[in-house]
This record gives sequence, structure tokens and C-alpha cells, in this order.
Amino acid sequence: MNVLSVASEIYPLIKTGGLADVVGALPLALKAHGVATKTLVPGYPAVMSKISNPVTVLVLADLFGETATVLAAEHEGLDILVLDVPAFFDRPGGPYVDQAGLDYPDNWRRFAALSKVGAEIANGALPDWRPDLVHVHDWQAALVPVFLRYQLQPEIPSLLTIHNIAFQGQFSAIHFGALGLPTHAYYEALEYYGTLSYLKAGLRTSHAISTVSPSYAEEILTPEFGMGMEGIIASRADSLYGIVNGIDAITWNPAGDPLIAATYAGGTLKRRQANRQSLCAYFGLDQDDGPIFSVVSRLTWQKGMDVVAEIADEIVAMGGKLAILGAGDAELEAALMAAAMRNPGRVGMTIGYNEPLSHLMQAGADALLVPSRFEPCGLTQLYALRYGCIPVVARTGGLNDTVINANEVAIAANVATGVQFSPVTAEGLRQAVRRVIRLYSDQKLWSAMQKQGMKSDVSWGRSAVRYHELYGSLLSKGN
Ligand code: ADP
Repeated sequence: MNVLSVASEIYPLIKTGGLADVVGALPLALKAHGVATKTLVPGYPAVMSKISNPVTVLVLADLFGETATVLAAEHEGLDILVLDVPAFFDRPGGPYVDQAGLDYPDNWRRFAALSKVGAEIANGALPDWRPDLVHVHDWQAALVPVFLRYQLQPEIPSLLTIHNIAFQGQFSAIHFGALGLPTHAYYEALEYYGTLSYLKAGLRTSHAISTVSPSYAEEILTPEFGMGMEGIIASRADSLYGIVNGIDAITWNPAGDPLIAATYAGGTLKRRQANRQSLCAYFGLDQDDGPIFSVVSRLTWQKGMDVVAEIADEIVAMGGKLAILGAGDAELEAALMAAAMRNPGRVGMTIGYNEPLSHLMQAGADALLVPSRFEPCGLTQLYALRYGCIPVVARTGGLNDTVINANEVAIAANVATGVQFSPVTAEGLRQAVRRVIRLYSDQKLWSAMQKQGMKSDVSWGRSAVRYHELYGSLLSKGN
């Protein structure tokens, strides 16, 4: 089976969040099922500089006013198609925002271009390769099924995966004319309260919709989590699937991770101590036995980082330490940094994006705080499970599906892998931290939980089976 995947990020070429991890890992996991995936991504500078020996496979003379070239390259086992349009993608900022953190004003065109080329390739534009199915990710690629339906009309099934429904690709309706779609596409698909919504259009036109955990698939049917899309999702409920993400078990493996101070496994947990020491040294934390709570996150309201800032001093007062790695909202960065300044030796913070350090944090911290207000799947808690770092998570979305709460029954049955709490308030997190400190004081129980977490199946194995089945059912419906 040949699959065209279209996305705005792919690890290890370009990453701002979990989307990239999934887009990079799924093709590798699906290979074992006979699925050959090619992934179309924009040619940002980071992508262009990392690929080697690219071959031109397609030239489009007029893609929204620009000449576009599609390059094919292989990178670490992935077949990549790069959409090279310097006017759209050769910029010094991030994939979506400029150096000042502001959305590029032409994002509507940049990602319409990605989708348009995705649709052309899905329709057989490449000379030597034709996909059987197209799998698109998030709003940036959500116009692929729209161009397919309204411009090209081929017989190819499409799957749209929602990684985070908070991001919807909403733009002024004045751009509709430039998309080159017939007027009825506006009313049937794109129109959203007088604006354009790329995500809504994809939800309307793709053959199936999936999201990255079963709990989130349920949640987005409700106004609280659907963020205005709940009605459209409900109208597609018979084509909605929830498949939890896995992790790249080679990159994230404490037994062989070159980015940590000492490798270890479930039977050699004592060796974690060296990572703990390195972590304390890095963040300037006291080398004592107090439990180290960590945060590796975008610093946003979604992630509940305001609540962490609010109780940081109390974590310290309870004997804990806090190590924070993240970047995001300036106010949250400042509030967390202020907590670090107030608590030298007890709270440490690094602002920025640091992939190697994120590995050491999973290997050296005792517990990972993930107090998200909503969380489609979440990856950091999966890494934490694998690294024997106890995840302390809000009871929502994928966090609910992947962490087994240490209640009395779960502890007695020796199946607990972490701590869940609700609601996401200072009081909710405070009580969770109290529970963690109590659990930590019983080191036998703690290491039993660590070992149980390390045994959890967080690989892509089972999820790849589910995607393969879903692809298969879409193909058989099309025939
Ligand atoms: P989201 O995609 O919403 O940001 P996920 O938990 O699904 O959340 O994925 C976040 C990914 O980004 C994980 O791989 C995590 O380790 C990584 N990450 C987040 N912030 C940082 C950071 N400051 N430095 C390094 N890695 C980070």
C-alpha cells in the first residue's frame, strides 16, 4: 500500500511539537505492515539544509504566483518530498511565526500551497509513484481533501488526523478567491462564521477523521473541548477514530540513550542516580533526596503552566525541587523564572528548546508534571513512563488513556504507573504533589511504580496496527 502523508512538520527535520514526532515515527512503524509512505513537507531552511542528494520530481510553474519544485530525498529511513518555494518557506523565523513570534500574514497561502501540491501528488502528478491513500495532518494540510474534491475529483480516500483542535487555520474570507476553488466550496466546506477555516473544510471533506487518543475523540464532541468544531465533528461521528500515539522507542530508550549521563533499565534503576546528579548540577539544584519534579513543555495556558507557577513555592515548602525546561508565553516564562529566582537550589529553569536536555530530564527527574487543561495525546508522559520518571498528569485526553492512576486498587494490584488529578487548579495540583510526595516516601512502592511504567507498551506497535486497519477499511470502501 502506498500512502502520501502531508504535514507541516516532521522529526528529525523540523519540529515544534508532538505533531512532528508522530509524522516522523508513523511511517517507520507502518513499514512492517507493508505500507510505503512518502511525506510531503515545506522546504523551510532547516529542512533544506538537512536533506542530502535531493532529486527534482515535479515542477509547478504557477503555485499561487510562484514557481514550485518538489524534491525527493531519503532521510533516516523516511521518504521525504520537499515542497521548495523560497518565497513561501525560506524565512528566518519558525514554521508559522516570524522572529518576533507573530503569525506570518500569508499563512493562508503558504499552507494552501502545501495542500494544493499534496492534492496534485495524490492525483498522480509524480511520474513514478502514485499513492493509494492520502493521510493529512492538522489544518496546515487540511485543504488536501478540499482540492481533491472540488478541483481534481480522483478516487482516492483521505484521512485527516487532528493533533490539536485548538489550531484551526482561520483566515479572512477575502482570500477565498485566490484559492481557485468553485464558489460552492466556500459554502459547503470552508465558510466558518464569515471566515475561512481550513480545519473545518478538511473535517467536511476527508473520508475519515482521526485524533490521537480515544478520550480526546470523545471530548471533541463536546463544546468544552470541541472549540467550535463540535457540531461538525458530531456530524462525522461515524467516521471518527481515536488512535493513541506511540513513541520512537529507539530515540527514547534509557538503556541506550547517548544523551543521558548513565544508561539503565528496569533492573538497574540505581543507575538513574547519575542522571539525577547531572540534572541537579545543570539546574543548580541541591544534591539532596527531595523528589525532583520536572516540566518539559510549551509554556502555555493549555499546558497549565500558570498553575505550576502558582504552586512552585509550595512544592519547595513540601520538600520538593522543580526543574523546568520550556519556552512560550512571555508572561508564563517570567512567572516561572521568578519562582526560580525566589528559590535558589530548589527551582531551576532553562528557557528555550533543548532536545538533548529533555532526555536528561526524563532520565534524572523523579516525576514529570503535565497539568494540561486539554491534551489530545501528549508525548512527554509516554517518555516519562519509559524512563522511570513518574508522570503526574491531568485527567484529560491522552493523559487519561496512557497513565494508570495510583489509587488504592491500582497500587494493590501493582498496575499503577503515575498520578492523575483533576481539576487543573492550584488546589488540584497541590493535592497531586502531596500524593506524589507521600508515594515517594515509600521507596519500595515508588520503584515498583517506576518498573511498572517502564513495562508499559508505549511503542507504535499496537497503534500502527490500528492505522493499518483504518487505511485498509478506507481502501475497501473506496473499491
Ligand atoms: P505538544 O505537541 O502539544 O507541544 P506533546 O507532549 O504532544 O505536546 O509533544 C511535545 C514534544 O515537544 C515532546 O517531544 C517534548 O519532549 C518536546 N518539547 C516540548 N518543549 C520542549 C523544550 N523546551 N525542549 C525540548 N523539547 C521540548
